[in-house]
Amino acid sequence: MPVPISQIWTVATYVLKQKLKGRKQYPLVLMLEPLFRCNLACAGCGKIQYPAHILKQNLSPEECFRAVDECGAPMVSIPGGEPLLHPQISEIVAGLVDRQKYIYLCTNALLLQEKIHQFKPSKYLTFSVHMDGQREHHDFSVCKEGGYDEALDGIKEAVKRGFRVTTNTTLFDGADPKSVRAFFDEMMDLGVEGMMLSPGYSYDKAPDQQHFLAKTRTRRLFHAILSNRKSGWRFNQSPLFLEYLMGRRHYTCTPWGMPTFNLFGWQKPCYLLQDGYADTFAELMETTEWSRYGTESGNPKCANCMVHSGYEASAVDHTFSSLKGFMATVRATLFSRYEDADAMSALDQPQKPVFLHDALVQIGSSRQESNEVEA
Ligand code: SF4
Repeated sequence: MPVPISQIWTVATYVLKQKLKGRKQYPLVLMLEPLFRCNLACAGCGKIQYPAHILKQNLSPEECFRAVDECGAPMVSIPGGEPLLHPQISEIVAGLVDRQKYIYLCTNALLLQEKIHQFKPSKYLTFSVHMDGQREHHDFSVCKEGGYDEALDGIKEAVKRGFRVTTNTTLFDGADPKSVRAFFDEMMDLGVEGMMLSPGYSYDKAPDQQHFLAKTRTRRLFHAILSNRKSGWRFNQSPLFLEYLMGRRHYTCTPWGMPTFNLFGWQKPCYLLQDGYADTFAELMETTEWSRYGTESGNPKCANCMVHSGYEASAVDHTFSSLKGFMATVRATLFSRYEDADAMSALDQPQKPVFLHDALVQIGSSRQESNEVEA
């Protein structure tokens, strides 16, 4: 069982309480961004493009605790930026452990060996290490030669010291399914608790037909990767969300399931889009026009989106909404091989990783343009 029973119990009782109270919109994971600066400059990341005076700022531990208490979600994910660059990150983590929140500290692990002595192993704390694939692919993705090996050393140290460790991987259309499956073997051999996956977010002004094809390609990619699963692979996320990525079920977006708090306040409507900010969590929930978002809304920014921050909470909600949803989750947990001959033969088809490369080059050149404008 990749996720500890105590965490499953906490989440299950929390969701059931929301159901009993008749709440249709409730937070499941708070995305707490205590800073935007990073020690990497990945081409696919929009966070480090903020001006220098914003990149210098940190949320204080008190601001973090206030947001966590206001929101009330049982799990807190701490992305960034790179959270290990925050001068008070160990104080923030300790305060959240005291509040019995299940924390996923999302790190590129470059500083993990240096800073690990600041943390104590706890069932509440997981280091969620950003790994985008095998050595060559990861180094390309994070724009740093040797990044994979440094992250690997961090993972090994954390596992050795008894910390909970997961990997988190973003996959783009064009990824090589065979290589991704070999990467899963490498990660599980390190002794991590489980792996987390999400498709990358893409938004362009292409016609609808192209959006449709983009989602189809995403499903085809995950179908090839996650069918014929090896028994040693463990995933630290909802099995129904993985089925959604494989195209086996349909969900609508629940952006309130993973609300985001950062230096600007509560971000509307989700982790990916910035359509304004609210001062309080209550204001976020009351004033966001939720019907304007999600694939069905017709909002072009949402047309391609299948990311975990929009759809994983939908899958978890499904688990607890009916006996059928619960039984589907049990079945997906117990029978997770998904044998499929077509998916197996898709692994041998030649891959053209054009989309990822083009996307990274495009993002890189727009960043260069915006830097030139600022300069
Ligand atoms: S579909 Fe994606 S981009 Fe749109 S609101 Fe949901 S999570 Fe955000």
